[in-house]
Amino acid sequence: MTYKELADLIFPNEKQIDYYETKYPKRNLPEGAVVTRYAPSPTGFMHIGGLYQALAAKMIAQKTKGVFFLRIEDTDQKREIENAVSDIIKALKDFDIVPDEGKISSKEEKGEYGPYKQSQRKDIYQAYAKYMIEQGKAYPAFETPEELEEMRAKQEAAKVRTGYYGVWAKCRNLSLEEMAEKIKAGEPYIIRFKSPGREDRKIKHKDIIKGNVEFPENDQDIIIIKSDGLPTYHFAHAVDDHLMGTTHVIRGDEWLSSVPLHLQLFQELGFKAPKYAHISPIMKNDNGNKRKLSKRKDPEAAVSYYEELGIPSLAVKEYLLNIANSTFENWRRQNKDAKLEDFDFQLNKMSVSGALFDMVKLQDVSKIVISKMTAEEVYEKSLEWANRHDEELVELLNNKEYSLKVLGIERGNTKPRKDIAKWSDVKENIIYMYDYKFLENKQEYPYQVINDRKDINKILDLYMEKYYNPEDDKQTWFEKIKELAGEMGYAKEVKEFKANPDQYKAHVGDVSTVLRIALTTRTNTPDMYEIMQVLGKTSISKRFEKAKQ
Ligand code: GLU
Repeated sequence: MTYKELADLIFPNEKQIDYYETKYPKRNLPEGAVVTRYAPSPTGFMHIGGLYQALAAKMIAQKTKGVFFLRIEDTDQKREIENAVSDIIKALKDFDIVPDEGKISSKEEKGEYGPYKQSQRKDIYQAYAKYMIEQGKAYPAFETPEELEEMRAKQEAAKVRTGYYGVWAKCRNLSLEEMAEKIKAGEPYIIRFKSPGREDRKIKHKDIIKGNVEFPENDQDIIIIKSDGLPTYHFAHAVDDHLMGTTHVIRGDEWLSSVPLHLQLFQELGFKAPKYAHISPIMKNDNGNKRKLSKRKDPEAAVSYYEELGIPSLAVKEYLLNIANSTFENWRRQNKDAKLEDFDFQLNKMSVSGALFDMVKLQDVSKIVISKMTAEEVYEKSLEWANRHDEELVELLNNKEYSLKVLGIERGNTKPRKDIAKWSDVKENIIYMYDYKFLENKQEYPYQVINDRKDINKILDLYMEKYYNPEDDKQTWFEKIKELAGEMGYAKEVKEFKANPDQYKAHVGDVSTVLRIALTTRTNTPDMYEIMQVLGKTSISKRFEKAKQ
């Protein structure tokens, strides 16, 4: 019996690999163009680390005018969750990390190198497995799961490496006739790779991120086709990334130790191996200890968390680039309005030990991102978010014209307000500006230096009677507050007050504070002049009357 006959017995109908090699020709791309992919398993949970990998892959492809594609790795069908594929596609869209090729919805895909869902590529994997058998580089193995478990127990008891290798790889030594006989007798089997490696030899690998690494060669006869006819991750990785023309495999570093096996598979299949960039997991500082962001313990590990909080996807992306390349921050400082795509992203500058993720810093980045938006944009985006998460905010925003004015306070100028980090902050930031909420509810007024009721009431009355004029420009407006301060016996200038602290009870700033608190009940607000402009006379008077009660 020949290898070819054994291969035909196992896979009678599979095509020759030439068919696929012709069907999926080398990509015609400009020199230096990089082909990357994001290859998630549809398990239903999208980790921020996955988004980070996808972003790195997209940035590099984009920068080199290459291709970034999405492949769904669903060969472990037990783990598959409904809607997971559309969730992945939606997340990539929301974060504007849209693939050039691959799955575009749970049903459709685009590109010439598909199918982009592994479960639809069974014939392809089997053709390559058949080819491997024909070459004597793969073989059927007949151990039952129980037998394999027993073998493992023996290995553990003997304190030797576990796995299917060397003397343990029993089926490797069956004759072709024995194999054929068992198959014909209906014994269940899987297909294993016949590894040419030796554990006592080393292989060197240069990883784009991790640098030079050295491993023992792989000597495990790993499974390439499982009993359900689908490939394992390892085999599918080699076949797919070859046929799809991936030049750079960017993936989590949990796969780094599989590199010896993967290089061997590429070699034995006669494929050129891609370059590898293994990304370290995103870390978190947990009371002084650096540890991986955990799906179980950290809500911020889930991509969906940012949507729930209402952190704009652009801010999350911007922050991820911040932790991906330390040069980003400086670049951003010098290119305040540049698009993220213009950043010269470098894979080899990514952290070897794992970038530290910090929610506080993310929110600082987000504040800046939101501060650059127009009132209209903030309005649209917070309304979109509110429609999903906050009815009361929807109700406030229903008055669009007024809301645009409120959101326009200190916006669109050289030093825009930076008090909104996420859409869930918006309500708290604007609610006091709506009379129907503010006037109808009981309010607490946290007065500061000036807290004598009579003085306060007098300030409010005098201001309305003598000094308030909606037509005033900002400078005049402030001059008038100074005059009011003077009339009440407070220092008109802070400087004056500091020079003669015994002469005054308080100064103009304290008078401003009284006005601010009476208007808003807050010690900290955006520009009070603008607030007054937006509120208008009637509202201001009503608020002062309420404050006096
Ligand atoms: N499906 C693999 C995973 O989810 C992808 C690894 C890769 O990018 O090759 O980890």
